[in-house]
Amino acid sequence: MSSLEQTARTPRLRVPYITAYDEEIVAHPLTFVWSPEATDGLKLSYVDAVPQDSMLGALWSRQGLHRRGRPEWKLVNSIRQRNAMLRLLCQVCGESAVGPDGRVSWVLADDPDDTSTSKGYTNAPPTCAACIPEALVACPRLRRGAAVYTVGSAEPYGVLGDFWRPTRHGPVETQRNAVVPLDAFWRLEYTLAKQLLVVLDDLRPMPLDR
Ligand SMILES: [Zn+2]
Repeated sequence: MSSLEQTARTPRLRVPYITAYDEEIVAHPLTFVWSPEATDGLKLSYVDAVPQDSMLGALWSRQGLHRRGRPEWKLVNSIRQRNAMLRLLCQVCGESAVGPDGRVSWVLADDPDDTSTSKGYTNAPPTCAACIPEALVACPRLRRGAAVYTVGSAEPYGVLGDFWRPTRHGPVETQRNAVVPLDAFWRLEYTLAKQLLVVLDDLRPMPLDR
């Protein structure tokens, strides 16, 4: 059987827009720099920092956007995730997830282990109406239980990131995947942001044919 026939018989799942690729992930050395605006005068930075490294008061994980290499199915590309949240793009196809009525379609895991939604924020970007069936089939967490909503608005709430401390030997990571609200300025200045968290407002259940 040729590979084309095989592809036709067993369609492979698309790589979602927000999924990271292994060649996009490159380590960049971190440092702490003096900053007059910082709460205690210090903030986390890159050795060769540029203005685009920072947004919403946090330093962001640097990642390529070229999509070369193998998909890292369990990892999210921080820049595409942030972009999807701020521009309300579908996490699967990368197109707008805003419907004709101006509301945004959003799939949320109905998972007892996932407490983020019940706390009022989420790290999952929206999913456009066309991609919802594929998202529900493709994701094991969503297969176990998911709720689909339309949302009136989504406001940045905080970041999911790694917390670093300055030491005489350089920055040392002391906490991984911490939730840091955008108004927790001191913690934000010590965090390497990896995902943007948003608060969803005006959720309405969206009926689905399953
Ligand atoms: Zn889509």
